[in-house]
Amino acid sequence: MKESPFLSTEEYALELDNGDDLARFREEFYLPDGGIYLDGNSLGMLSVRAERSLLDALNDWKRMGIDGWTQGERPWFYQAERLGACLAPLVGADAEEVIVSGSTTLNLHQLVSTFYQPEGNRTKILADELTFPSDIYALQSQLRLRGFDPDEHLLLTASRDGRFLEEDDLIACMNEEIALIVLPTVLYRSGQLLDIPRLTEEAHKRGIMIGFDGCHSVGAIPHWFSEWDVDFAFWCSYKYLNGGPGSVGALYVNRRHFGRLPGLAGWFGSDKGKQFDMELSFLPAQTAGAYQIGTPHILSMAPLFGALSMFEEAGIDRIRQKSLRQTGYLMELLAVELSGHGFAIGNPPGDARRGGHVCLEHPEAARICKALKENGVIPDFRAPNVIRLAPVALYTSYHDVWRAVQILKRIMEERTYERYENKRGVVA
Ligand SMILES: *Cc1c(COP(=O)(O)O)cnc(C)c1O
Repeated sequence: MKESPFLSTEEYALELDNGDDLARFREEFYLPDGGIYLDGNSLGMLSVRAERSLLDALNDWKRMGIDGWTQGERPWFYQAERLGACLAPLVGADAEEVIVSGSTTLNLHQLVSTFYQPEGNRTKILADELTFPSDIYALQSQLRLRGFDPDEHLLLTASRDGRFLEEDDLIACMNEEIALIVLPTVLYRSGQLLDIPRLTEEAHKRGIMIGFDGCHSVGAIPHWFSEWDVDFAFWCSYKYLNGGPGSVGALYVNRRHFGRLPGLAGWFGSDKGKQFDMELSFLPAQTAGAYQIGTPHILSMAPLFGALSMFEEAGIDRIRQKSLRQTGYLMELLAVELSGHGFAIGNPPGDARRGGHVCLEHPEAARICKALKENGVIPDFRAPNVIRLAPVALYTSYHDVWRAVQILKRIMEERTYERYENKRGVVA
């Protein structure tokens, strides 16, 4: 795309759309009529392709009943493995290292119960205080199950400013008492992208296993988990991957660890050729498939076939380039149009450290979000003061970004947000 200098005009937004080589994917999505959806980092939107692959699965059930497991359009028995292979290029892994199964939190339980092996003085788990709470609850309960007090055995690296983590601080916490480290790839609130290869290398130098929660990066950012030698990772598929509400999550296990017994075993972790022998001794698959537990949630997986085919066509590198360009453009517009209205940018400004969303801070964030929604812009609020705005490369246009900023500007100038209570809703 030709580089013309940034302008805050509508014409410039339209010019950016004209030069956008991913623009054609937008028309494949169901988007709110006249509205602007900027919440794809919480729940990605439905595409025609995802809808079709879900309907295909329903149709197989309708036509074939039980035979859908082996003879359907996409035989259900192999879906988790096939979708794992579709996801592998997005995380820099071999097909056998990724499986679609469970949910983020469930997969974290599975992986911690597998990889947390306290020994001697090495009994602690290291995480960070800005992590998504569900991850912390899971780690606390895993420690309790092993008879450890989470207050003593879960170490949370502190943030210096409440927004970001310093890799130096994380590394300083990697002492000889740590058995396992679990960190996010991208922080859910500030959108900070951590230096995954550096943290992995430093953990391994000290003999510590390390795994990453990729909820806020998979589908927005390329990863090279195998090259970086990450031990394991897990993520959801309903945010940037557009798999639908409650769609099935995924996990990565480095092939170095194949054959390690799952902490939580179940028959769907079996070697697939042996599963239906119904033997009472468990023979696990020699792949990431071993970490499945029970029958896969076929209908919550099916939309992923359609959704992931778009990532294959678009390519994750082009998606990342557009995402960076859109969040950069959004930040420039905010600086020009909304200065003097009390906003602060709470995400890292630089491309190397920025995830897929812009974190806009304001003391009145809760009611500004309500006013935005009332005016057709769908943002996402995170207490106490964060408005997350995620332009999604596959379906957000530059013109959407431009219009959203114009609407926000009007809300601030006319102070219409003051009509709402500054309180969050039940789901926010
Ligand atoms: C969205 C998200 C989760 C949610 O976990 P589920 O088990 O899918 O409900 C967990 N961790 C992070 C970092 C998230 O962003």
